[in-house]
Amino acid sequence: MRRLLILGSTGSIGTQALDVLARSDELELVGLSAERSWETLVEQARAHGVRRVALVDAHAAELAAQAWPDGEVLAGAEGLVRLVVESGADLVLNALVGSAGLGPTVATLGEGIDLALANKESLVVGGELVVALAQATGAQIVPVDSEHTALHQLISGQPPGAIDRLTITASGGPFRGRSPGDLVDVTVEQALAHPTWAMGGKITIDSATLMNKGLELMEAHHLFGTPYERIDVVVHPQSLIHGIVQLADGAMLAHMGPPDMRIAISYALHGAASVELPIAPIDLVQVGALTFETVDLDAFPCLRLAREAAEAGGTAPCVLNAANEIAVHAFLADRLPFNGIPSVIEHALSTLGSGPVKSFESLYEADRRARVAAQDALALRA
Ligand code: NAD
Ligand code: MG
Repeated sequence: MRRLLILGSTGSIGTQALDVLARSDELELVGLSAERSWETLVEQARAHGVRRVALVDAHAAELAAQAWPDGEVLAGAEGLVRLVVESGADLVLNALVGSAGLGPTVATLGEGIDLALANKESLVVGGELVVALAQATGAQIVPVDSEHTALHQLISGQPPGAIDRLTITASGGPFRGRSPGDLVDVTVEQALAHPTWAMGGKITIDSATLMNKGLELMEAHHLFGTPYERIDVVVHPQSLIHGIVQLADGAMLAHMGPPDMRIAISYALHGAASVELPIAPIDLVQVGALTFETVDLDAFPCLRLAREAAEAGGTAPCVLNAANEIAVHAFLADRLPFNGIPSVIEHALSTLGSGPVKSFESLYEADRRARVAAQDALALRA
């Protein structure tokens, strides 16, 4: 039996992973973590017979320890890293949100433990170093993201050198088809109403701005070693085709499936061995037509900013990501309008530019400085 540790088990991916896990007996759960929702975490630990958990919030960790004397509760970001390195896990699912996922990714790969990676921000922020670390220790990174899961599955069946281009699809989010002027006064509630996927708050806003596709562009580049000029993004509102590879001979292989993340999670946890899931297959006749559109970069400048930061390299993607986290947080708290999100990111990028990445420490430093620059941009607007 493979031993599995789930980080971020109370979130959207985390809870779906527990659902997938309950349907097979090939994996033994050895640990769970959350930021602060200790009651749910303790409930999950009891239900799955887990003895050790971590909570990043120290107060939440104290409350959990009082309520759960049979288990062990680790606290803080250090507790999370300890949970990883002392877990004896064969596989870690990193389902944290934001650049807070980078430390646990590094801890996992540093121990040579295979990583099922939902936390795309790890690759956005630290792509080159993260991939180099995995290569050095021999740990595998398997994506948990519908487009990358699709590409991973498609690429696995091809001989080296057979693939010319990659395409990831975007639903277009709730504001597809709107002009920049139509996006000035959209509300948080409208931005959270995603047409095809139910996800955590941060990625749902990233999907509305299309920053999510920008982060995914970098995720694909690092996972598959494909240069940026050979990765395309196309809007596909039905969200049924997730990824396409174009072969040297012009053939295109597309990966199709219902928009349900349990498929991607199951692929990462079980490998190519397909496990039965209670998901209704697509009725092709009912669907009728699949359509594709180009992305409107005037209405959704976040994708343009992300591609520019990706091509600039160095610390620019890290700065972009941290500023985006601050801006999305401010939008969700009604402190920033929707079209202020790209402005805050642009401010941070133009203030800090791109520096060389010498070590993980230079990334943590760039992340800190970008958060300050983004807060300054918010203060300037107020
Ligand atoms: P979520 O907000 O629903 O859950 C996040 C989890 O991480 C929670 O358990 C939370 O307690 C924990 N967490 C949050 N901040 C933390 C911090 N600073 N330190 C430690 N733990 C923290 O998020 P989600 O939608 O499940 O997304 C998780 C990751 O998966 C993101 O990187 C997202 O982009 C990616 N992803 C999600 C989906 C989806 O359908 N939800 C699809 C593709 C990729
Ligand atoms: Mg995705």
